[in-house]
Amino acid sequence: MRGKISEIFESMQGEGLYMGVRQIFVRFFGCNLACKFCDTPLYAFREYTPEELLERLKGHPGKFHSVSFTGGEPLLQKGFLKNIFALNHKRGSKNYLETNGTLPSALKEVIEGADIIAMDLKFPSSTGLKDYWGEHHAFLKIASQKDVFLKAVICKNTEEYDLKRALALIKDINEDIPLILQPDGECDYALLEEKLERFRDICLSEKIKARLVPQMHKILGVG
Ligand code: SF4
Repeated sequence: MRGKISEIFESMQGEGLYMGVRQIFVRFFGCNLACKFCDTPLYAFREYTPEELLERLKGHPGKFHSVSFTGGEPLLQKGFLKNIFALNHKRGSKNYLETNGTLPSALKEVIEGADIIAMDLKFPSSTGLKDYWGEHHAFLKIASQKDVFLKAVICKNTEEYDLKRALALIKDINEDIPLILQPDGECDYALLEEKLERFRDICLSEKIKARLVPQMHKILGVG
C-alpha cells in the first residue's frame, strides 16, 4: 500500500483552535473539491508506504504537539491514512486530521485513530460549489465522538443564510462544538471586517461558540 504525499514539513499550526502549536505536517495529494478560494495547489507527489512515512516522521525528533494530516483531502486515501494513524500512535504521537468534511463513510473507517479533527464547513456562497449540508451533517455526527472543531472561510460573497444553515446543523448535533470564522486570506481584511463581526455576533446570539481567527501562517509567512 502506498500513499501519495505532496509535502512533509515541520511548522506552527497557523489556523483554527490549535493555532500556535508545533506540528509536523503531512500534505496528502488530491482533493475531491475545487473551492474558489483554494490556496493549496497540488502539482506533485511522492509515494510512501506507511512504514516509509513513519521513518520520515522520525526524522523530526524535537518536541511537537501532533502530526497534522492535511491536504488536499486525506480521506481520499483512507486505507493509507488508517495505517499511518496506527503507526504514529505506536510512536506515541497524536493524529490531527484536517478535512473538508464531505466524506463521512471514509471518516467512519479511520475515526478510531483520529485524536483531533479540524473540519471545514463549505458554504456554497464561499466555495462556488454545490452544497454539502447532508455530507457535513453525517460527517459531524461521526466526528463528534472525538475532539472536533469547525472552520468556515468567509469571503466577500459569503451569504448570511449559509451561516444560519451551519448554525442549525451544529445545534442539531452538539452546540458546544466551536466554530472558527476565518477570513479569506486573499481578500483585504478591511472589506470583510464588518461581515465577520456581524457573523460572530449572530453565532453568539444563537449560543454557538464562535471565534474570528485569521490565518496566522500567512501573516507571519510560516508554513
Ligand atoms: S477542500 Fe481544501 S484543498 Fe480541496 S479545493 Fe477546497 S480549499 Fe482546496
